[in-house]
Amino acid sequence: MQFQGTYFDGITSAGQTAQLTADARSVCVSWSGGEQVIGTQDIRVEAALGSVPRRVSWGADDYFISEDHTALDALAQFRGDRGLSFWVSRLEANFSGVAVAVMFTLATLVLFGLYGIPRITASIAHQLPLTVSAQMAQSTMTNLTPLLQESELTESRQQQLRLYFSEHERTDVPAVDVHFRRARSFVGPNALTLSGTTVVFTDAIVELLQNDQQLLAVFLHELGHARMRHVEQTLLQSAGWAVLLTFITGDIGGVGELALTLPFAIGQSAYTREFERQADAFAVAELQRLGIDPEVFAQALEELERSHEDEFDAESVDTEHSDASREVHRRLLEYLASHPITADRIAAIRGVPSS
Ligand SMILES: [Zn+2]
Repeated sequence: MQFQGTYFDGITSAGQTAQLTADARSVCVSWSGGEQVIGTQDIRVEAALGSVPRRVSWGADDYFISEDHTALDALAQFRGDRGLSFWVSRLEANFSGVAVAVMFTLATLVLFGLYGIPRITASIAHQLPLTVSAQMAQSTMTNLTPLLQESELTESRQQQLRLYFSEHERTDVPAVDVHFRRARSFVGPNALTLSGTTVVFTDAIVELLQNDQQLLAVFLHELGHARMRHVEQTLLQSAGWAVLLTFITGDIGGVGELALTLPFAIGQSAYTREFERQADAFAVAELQRLGIDPEVFAQALEELERSHEDEFDAESVDTEHSDASREVHRRLLEYLASHPITADRIAAIRGVPSS
């Protein structure tokens, strides 16, 4: 057998047009400047990787490269080589086999993403030191500075609420920090959990909910998110998806962007709804422990729902935050602040027998 390729002397980078001739005993590579004769059993044919040119080497610095895959496969078989590379290239040549293998791999990875990642991230999130959560909250707060400005509530009102909340918090775990901020209009009356250590109330929610027990109920809902490390879990999940997508696509550059947008895109996904349900259940259980009727929580949600409906129209004409970096901050804030208030949630709270 005989086929064309390029000879490299292993010293200079330029190759020379060459020809490879082989029989059962010897392989001869010849080019314009000379030739190499090697025993057929001493050559090694590189495994096929798509249509990438493959190397024929013989344990020296010089080598031969060819794109003639048919000839290279024949040479490998000639040599009696039926190792892994032979079967890999056979499989690669067999499209349906490849398709089945790819589908199987993708299905496995997606199942791992849907069921494995949440379990692993929940476990890691609960083991994260609180100092890490505190740093996370600090950096989010810094990022959101353009949208969350100094509160206009009086210092005494802020202190009064902090004291009121902390008096109703369990004392066997470290207390969370409560911050008050004046938020851009689109956030409206809301409360946000930044991490396991930090909760933020907007001025608007404090002004809206006149009954402090309703504010306490909202605080306990946020405390539930904080105690269960929901923000940490969400971030770890998106990191998990980023790794998984990189693994699937092999494209780190493109995937980075996708992984950043994914948690926002699936913001209303099963994870989030489950986290809301858990935080509501936490708040209801805490209210019952404190001897407060969970009805105050249902009323707070109704009050919030009404105010968000009113603001919806004003929001759509707000073009103030249209530039790109503002948009990212806005989405981050909306994501952290989004507690889908649904009739289902209110019904679930009311469905709990009051103690
Ligand atoms: Zn929530």
